[in-house]
Amino acid sequence: MAFEELRESMVTHQIEARGVSDMHVLAAMRAVPRHAFVPDVAPEEAYADHPLPIGFGQTISQPYIVAYMCEAARLNPDCRALEIGTGCGYNAAVMSLLAGHVYTAEIVPELAKRAAQTLEELGYLNVSVKTGDGCTIWREEAPFDAIIVTAAPAHIPDILLTQLSDGGRLVIPVGSLFMGQELLLVERKGDEYIRQHKMLVSFVPLRGPEAE
Ligand code: SAH
Repeated sequence: MAFEELRESMVTHQIEARGVSDMHVLAAMRAVPRHAFVPDVAPEEAYADHPLPIGFGQTISQPYIVAYMCEAARLNPDCRALEIGTGCGYNAAVMSLLAGHVYTAEIVPELAKRAAQTLEELGYLNVSVKTGDGCTIWREEAPFDAIIVTAAPAHIPDILLTQLSDGGRLVIPVGSLFMGQELLLVERKGDEYIRQHKMLVSFVPLRGPEAE
């Protein structure tokens, strides 16, 4: 099957069928060549309904979760967005089609380097990649209108709340692999941070001093 057909089927059966309806998110999921971010995986597998290994014990999220998090973060062309956990760069590519600029950080240097290369080769030019702890490394670019975290801390790091603009959205998995994790949406309204539970999820752990 051609890649466009695989993506169309992925969007219809995995994403729209589960309730993601933002047209821009669906268009971005149809556009980004997921297989190009996971060269060691057979092309059909790349569009399958589950996470995939990307090396160094890390995984790229299931397509539905990527779409769900982008919709929950309400990305739009005026957004400055932060992603924590670049991995292979796929989620950042999807975000880049929705936001004005994407800042992303990856703590494993080899993954950061490969992701930056893939993103550049594919022409995603509004993404900046840095190696290091995403909770702090892009602080000079804060505030962000949207922050998407793709690895799970035990609790919400305060340092991320301080990097949200007024009206900004943080989408983050919280908990542990053993006790269970939940996906939260936190919205800043002035000095208030309003939390909503979204769903149960399973992400790799966030690393570093902010993860506890
Ligand atoms: N969004 C990725 C999925 C990444 S999996 C993609 O589309 O491929 C989560 C990633 O978070 C892993 O690569 C892991 O190394 C990274 N990570 C864990 N803790 C981190 C931290 N504190 N800062 C930046 N990256 C981190």
